Amino acid sequence: MVLDRINYLKEEINKHNYNYYVNDNPTISDFEYDKLFAELKELEAQNPLLITPDSPTQRLGSISEKFLPYTHKHRLYSLDNTYNYDDLIKWYEKIEKEYGKNLELVCELKIDGLAIALSYENGIFTTGVTRGDGITGEEITTNLKTIKAIPLKLFEDANVEVRGEIYMPKSSFEKLNEENLKNGEKPFANPRNAASGSLRQLDSSVTAQRDLSMFTYTLITENAPATHYESIMYLKKLGFKVNPNIKLCKNVQDAIDYCEYWKNKRFELDYATDGVVIKINKIAIQEELGYTARAPKWATAFKFPPEEITTKVKDIELGVGKTGAITPVAILEPVLLAGSTVSRASLHNFDEIKRLDVRIGDTVLIKKAAEIIPKVIKVIDTPEHDTLPVVKPPKTCPVCGGKLGGKVGEVNLYCLNPHCSELMKAKIEFWASKDAMDIETLGPVIIEQLYDKKFISTPVDLYRLTMQDFMQLDLIKEKSASNLYNAIQASKTRPLKRLLTALSIKNVGKETADILANEYGSLENLKNATIEELRNINGIGLVMADDIYDFFHDEKNVIMLDELKSLGVNPPPVEALKSNVLKGKTIVLTGTLKDLTRDEASEIIKSHGGKTSSSVSKNTSFVLAGENAGSKLEKAQKLNIPILTEEDFLEMIKE
Ligand code: NAD
Repeated sequence: MVLDRINYLKEEINKHNYNYYVNDNPTISDFEYDKLFAELKELEAQNPLLITPDSPTQRLGSISEKFLPYTHKHRLYSLDNTYNYDDLIKWYEKIEKEYGKNLELVCELKIDGLAIALSYENGIFTTGVTRGDGITGEEITTNLKTIKAIPLKLFEDANVEVRGEIYMPKSSFEKLNEENLKNGEKPFANPRNAASGSLRQLDSSVTAQRDLSMFTYTLITENAPATHYESIMYLKKLGFKVNPNIKLCKNVQDAIDYCEYWKNKRFELDYATDGVVIKINKIAIQEELGYTARAPKWATAFKFPPEEITTKVKDIELGVGKTGAITPVAILEPVLLAGSTVSRASLHNFDEIKRLDVRIGDTVLIKKAAEIIPKVIKVIDTPEHDTLPVVKPPKTCPVCGGKLGGKVGEVNLYCLNPHCSELMKAKIEFWASKDAMDIETLGPVIIEQLYDKKFISTPVDLYRLTMQDFMQLDLIKEKSASNLYNAIQASKTRPLKRLLTALSIKNVGKETADILANEYGSLENLKNATIEELRNINGIGLVMADDIYDFFHDEKNVIMLDELKSLGVNPPPVEALKSNVLKGKTIVLTGTLKDLTRDEASEIIKSHGGKTSSSVSKNTSFVLAGENAGSKLEKAQKLNIPILTEEDFLEMIKE
């Protein structure tokens, strides 16, 4: 029985190793793989006689036959990992027992790329090899030479071997996948697979075209420093790129705090990280602790909750969005993903369904990024797939039965009936949402009831509702009725930028709404804007300008805006700028500021005439950097863009 399970697990894990390491095409999520691996490890620990040398727990990785094999001078290892802090504490306390209390640890982000060993002789790069199975790797020196973050010559004539992680920035990964799709090629499942696929190319000119980088984290040399932290500093001094997010911790609690910090913060980085690697700082202790068959005993990885998982598609539901777009949603067998249970995932549109060839009954890989609803990344190749019926686009609106149409240059299908109930409900929901009029407690369930009872049919009707109307809804007592009524009244004086967002003007999101509000100061001024004026505003494109102009000159919209005004919806005039110190300046915020939140800093920038941007480019005027700033800071340094501390910035505003 146990033997059967062990054999099954070995076979499954070996199959997934091959898909992941050789084909760069995993078919299950890392979390599910780790679960299989942990089960095998546990069974083997309980039955040590059943451990065989070919067990995946006794070896790592796989190598392809694409490149010349190269035997590593020093073996490379994997890392043990855990998803919970109890295991981490147990690991630390076991070592503490032997080496004394409060052992120093070094925490580093676990970069989700692929490990590489680089050799330098007298400071000159000689050989670069993939980790492979840890004993033998693939020799890919020519390809590695195309990566700019790998120095060809060091600042010292040192003889060293270093290890690090090759990765592809998330933004470059998305661009590469877009291009692949355009050229009819298969997209990569994640940045790690994209990095691995790009690096292990027989033609190095293909690698050269891909945006790859490398963080270095291990140094092997004679007379190496006595601690890991010092060796990282030395790597930096030699000219290697080292991840700035590294912390010397006094004890395990310090390390746990660091993991907690990065659990949510990681989404702001432009590279994928799947956890934190925690290492004993003292090299002498590392050497004494040594290694298991596949991992060091002096290090472990805390892995973040999974962002990807596989599940089954039970159904595909069609909804209508606030623009009338038909939005297919996959209804899933519920799974735990990134800390919450997920039962729906976005499929975007019918082009996407066709591209993925997702069918009801399929097993799919879904992914969740910060605050975004999960999306289906790919369909897992299963024998059932071909037997399932292909999903076809509807011929009429699935809600109102109205005609459907497409728009030139767009992939969406739209319901053409302006009175479609789903469309109106979506518009009202959006009107009440946080980014728009922020009407607290007015959610989809209440809106559905109000709509079905014919109390409202447009967002304007919200302002005609009375307390008595709310009292007629299911499960609503006086207190909630009064809360709802008051929340709607409070929304009447929301800032202009919110009202402009809520209006759902085509192509106008919250950023554009903000630009318009600052430029015109009041709804009246904006209504009177000419097309030429709109086209000349920085940040407003030609098509957008036409859409805005058309919106304010559509008779129905003119009536609607008058109605809103007569019902008391009246945003206060936008405050004049406090100064012009930052006029024309584009500022990027990164890291954690001491005294200001990000929103406060953005508001200050705006009130002094500047604007914020989320990415660093040649057009960035300066970067405002707080603690633990990441890749944006590095990019700014590379582009020689001025970097200001919070104090510098506040001083500048004062002046
Ligand atoms: P790993 O990726 O979990 O951890 C070890 C690796 O971490 C090292 O080899 C190194 O490359 C990397 N690393 C990143 N930052 C580091 C740092 N700062 N210091 C030290 N090392 C750092 O282990 P692995 O053996 O490469 O792969 C096993 C993992 O790969 C599994 O846990 C799973 O997540 C994934 N995997 C998934 C599938 C699948 O089908 N989904 C299959 C095989 C493996």
